[in-house]
Amino acid sequence: MTVDIVTIFPAMIEGPLAAGILGRAIDRGTLDVKVRDLRDFTTDRHRVVDDVPYGGGPGMVLKPDPIFRALDAIEAERGAPLTVILTSPQGARFTQSDARRLSGQPHLVLLCGRYEGFDDRVRARVTEELSIGDYVLTGGELPALVVLDAVARFVPGVVGDEQSVAEDSFSRGLLDFPQFTRPAEISADRSGEQVMAVPEVLLSGNHAAIRRWRKRAALGRTLERRPDLLDGAQLDDEERQILLELQEGRIAGLQKVKE
Ligand code: SAH
Repeated sequence: MTVDIVTIFPAMIEGPLAAGILGRAIDRGTLDVKVRDLRDFTTDRHRVVDDVPYGGGPGMVLKPDPIFRALDAIEAERGAPLTVILTSPQGARFTQSDARRLSGQPHLVLLCGRYEGFDDRVRARVTEELSIGDYVLTGGELPALVVLDAVARFVPGVVGDEQSVAEDSFSRGLLDFPQFTRPAEISADRSGEQVMAVPEVLLSGNHAAIRRWRKRAALGRTLERRPDLLDGAQLDDEERQILLELQEGRIAGLQKVKE
């Protein structure tokens, strides 16, 4: 997958992309990421990328022409058509299914805003506008990294174990089951009291029982924390049965509280 990121702070993108799974994927050539400095597409001596808003008011606005020139340069080098993503708190909320969908594109362009955002006319060359959540950040660099990280995990060869991506939270509309590693027993503080043990079944070596326990734990967590996800979840017969049991248990529990 080829990715171009347009920003006025290339260092904010380059640092994080040097480490971890994405860093390795870039070294191997599975991901080809180019960071483009928006100032390289200005034509004035001071490399100005922003200007005051028409109509007045506080803050500065990113000028449209350097962005259009950056897109022209990327298109000339990489070829059209481009999937151009504008990071914006006004965009559609970015989700795991967007990440999976975008991972099927051969080439993504991510535009990072700053100040009060972009001149609205840049939208003419944008194919989608994405928000990473209902809060406002100082720039689009962190959102671009968030989108790229989530998308890249679906690109074959980026994450070593593709089964783990398929089982992640949200992938089937469920939260992931809880994980444990050694030691099998530990105390949370130095007093040594309250020893916490790993659920017995996970040490049993009984793979069928472990699989069932994990299904139940994933469903239980989702029911407790994000019941909204269950409407769209893809469940097998066993999971549907477990969910019914959990729901009945919960209703019975609630009735007990009321009595
Ligand atoms: N005045 C704008 C906010 C500008 S924030 C408004 O209210 O809509 C500056 C830049 O940060 C934006 O152009 C965008 O690139 C980025 N940004 C801020 N919050 C974001 C979010 N939740 N999701 C995606 N990008 C965001």
